[in-house]
Amino acid sequence: MAAYANVIVDISLEKLDKTFQYKIPKEWQETLHVGMQVKIPFGNRTITGYVLELTDEPEFDVTKIKPILGAAEGSVAIESQLIELAGWMRRNYGSTMNQALKTVLPIKQQTKQVQRRTVHLMAERGEAMKQLALFEAKHNAARARLLRELLAQESIDYSVVTQKLHIAASVVKGLCDMGLIRVEATTEYRNPVSHLARKDYAITLNAAQQSVVDAVMKDRANGCYQTYLLKGVTGSGKTEVYMELIAEVIEEGRQAIVLIPEIALTYQTVMRFVNRFGERVSILNSRLSAGERYDQYLRAKNGDIDIMIGPRSALFTPFAKLGLIIIDEEHENSYKSETAPRYHARETAIHRAKLCGASVVLGSATPSVESYYCAKAGQYRLLELNRRVEERPLPECEIVDLREELKNGNRSILSERLQELMEDRLQKGQQIMLFLNRRGVAGFVSCRACGYVIKCPHCDVSLSQHNNGKMVCHYCGYEEAVPKACPSCGSKYIGGFKAGTQKIEQVVRERFPGVRTLRMDFDTTRTKDSYENILQAFGNREADVLIGTQMIVKGHDFANVTLVGILAADMSLHVSDYHAAERTFQLLTQAAGRAGRGDCPGQVVIQTYDPEHFAIRTASAQDYELFYEQEINYREMMHYPPVWNMLVILLASPDEQAVAVAAQMIYDNMEQMIGRTFEIQLIGPADASISKINDIYRKVIYLKTDNYDKLIALKDATEQFALTQAVCKNVNIQFDFNPMSGF
Ligand code: ADP
Ligand code: ZN
Ligand code: ZN
Repeated sequence: MAAYANVIVDISLEKLDKTFQYKIPKEWQETLHVGMQVKIPFGNRTITGYVLELTDEPEFDVTKIKPILGAAEGSVAIESQLIELAGWMRRNYGSTMNQALKTVLPIKQQTKQVQRRTVHLMAERGEAMKQLALFEAKHNAARARLLRELLAQESIDYSVVTQKLHIAASVVKGLCDMGLIRVEATTEYRNPVSHLARKDYAITLNAAQQSVVDAVMKDRANGCYQTYLLKGVTGSGKTEVYMELIAEVIEEGRQAIVLIPEIALTYQTVMRFVNRFGERVSILNSRLSAGERYDQYLRAKNGDIDIMIGPRSALFTPFAKLGLIIIDEEHENSYKSETAPRYHARETAIHRAKLCGASVVLGSATPSVESYYCAKAGQYRLLELNRRVEERPLPECEIVDLREELKNGNRSILSERLQELMEDRLQKGQQIMLFLNRRGVAGFVSCRACGYVIKCPHCDVSLSQHNNGKMVCHYCGYEEAVPKACPSCGSKYIGGFKAGTQKIEQVVRERFPGVRTLRMDFDTTRTKDSYENILQAFGNREADVLIGTQMIVKGHDFANVTLVGILAADMSLHVSDYHAAERTFQLLTQAAGRAGRGDCPGQVVIQTYDPEHFAIRTASAQDYELFYEQEINYREMMHYPPVWNMLVILLASPDEQAVAVAAQMIYDNMEQMIGRTFEIQLIGPADASISKINDIYRKVIYLKTDNYDKLIALKDATEQFALTQAVCKNVNIQFDFNPMSGF
């Protein structure tokens, strides 16, 4: 129970850290909480503010601190809920309150809203006609023209008046001053989907889909708002289920948020929602300007829309009566924030839903191990769609052992089997997708004589070779030319060890003369619309083969694709991260799921050097259960999440010495706090797996324990400890709970 409350009175971005301190009266000690709207004395007025923090530390002379007067009456503002959520995020993920607030509150824009102005007739008709006759007599042509038009139609757009009727602004003003007309301005919020043409919506759910919808709606009817994991194979009709649920929730007078990974937020996906819900839908994506984004928050707050679709940040849409949150492709990495607070959208959504009585639906063909674990433990309710719609079969998968290919003298990137199937599809006029799994592995440049690998001088990562003869760092953008000789031994056998998408495109074109290819990777998607353009071109059958990195595996629906080739399936297994097997399984299953979504069945070829690996075997059998069983055993044995919880402390500084000393001190302090207990594992301090980025040195300390709250306590203690250590001043310390990627 705290003695003081820090209260904010203005939630515009630049004032977020301006708080005022008040005493908490005895009778409020139990009920006051972060986010609550309260009445406070301010100068000689009484105003309302939001409680941001509860503390025992007075900020100034205690005799001068005034008490809170009471709770603000009336409806609870949506801001209260979001501030409370920010407080929860701060506690659970580690950040300052300011960072957390900036994450949840829409950023107020200085840019002007778009105004729509209309001109109306003010005077009575009789009076207006008299004036019109007068203007005509005096040859005031412009004045007469405007009055005549306004007598014919009640109001006219201001732009029509000035541009079509050619009437000067001074003339309009003159008539206003005479009290004959008036100009009305209304704020118009930009609508990012208004230009899209709608098609009719006509799909009836099948029995399996309907039973999922019924399960959720029945719970809601009973006042039960919980979290569901919808595990549905690729093409089983999950999106249709989401839309039906949304329609029912809107019927209840409530709103819905749909989270989709940014990369899958394509024209195709958005159109499905617009076709069904029209103007009541809006989107947030990184292509909107800051002003447009802010408009969407206001439209949500004003009740102009019911559905917001967007990536992670759309979770904070200020809907007053939020009833449903959907997280599609819930296993995606992008739901975890990479900056403080490093929140996970899944857990945060569940917490927001708790604050407002909403249901949460997590959907995936390949649920994260974390979510499936929760579903098995009964924390989430599991709902399944085990068949594709209209009884379309799942694609048939086969594994090709690349070591055997080499033995048989095939040195091509394309196995014999894949070439054979490609030939067949090209003849039939069907389309092919080639997926190059190169997550975490770049086309590095190395010396074949001594093995030297060329690295970025600013980051501890290898440079990637590009076609223009340059090597590029994908972390900081650094570029240099490929050297003629090895900097280490002088050998001239240095070059790109490369099976990049460009190389594959070249091989495909040589092998199948006349074939039309499209490529989607880091290089071809740098400009704003290029990603969407490539997808559309492929959808319009302007190419036979689409070659790409993991970008091509995300929820696109191409009915004419009947063959998917997965090249180097095992590459993602060699990443130093305990998620490596899970990622590999997900990537392969999702990529395979691109095949056979139309009327013709699909086929998948998985090429690998490691055909016995369980992630590859289970993915080719499309057996999620078997994969999960093996994976959860491994996590249990290694005490990894979700069985235990993990906290990574990441220390970074341009001062190599300082970061090493600080890491050791924090480690020692941690060891002392923990004492001799087997329930907490402490590992480190060690170099981060990328030990330098942009000349910033990075160290890590890992903590593992079964209890999340213990980790929060240790985080708080470490924060306090670091404040007292001079050496930590020049070191940035960040916390990451249950990290999604390696450090
Ligand atoms: P998922 O999200 O599970 O991959 P989708 O919702 O995208 O599946 O459905 C796959 C395809 O099947 C889409 O083209 C969708 O329009 C269609 N579809 C889904 N449900 C039905 C249904 N009940 N009847 C007919 N077509 C359907
Ligand atoms: Zn060398
Ligand atoms: Zn670099």
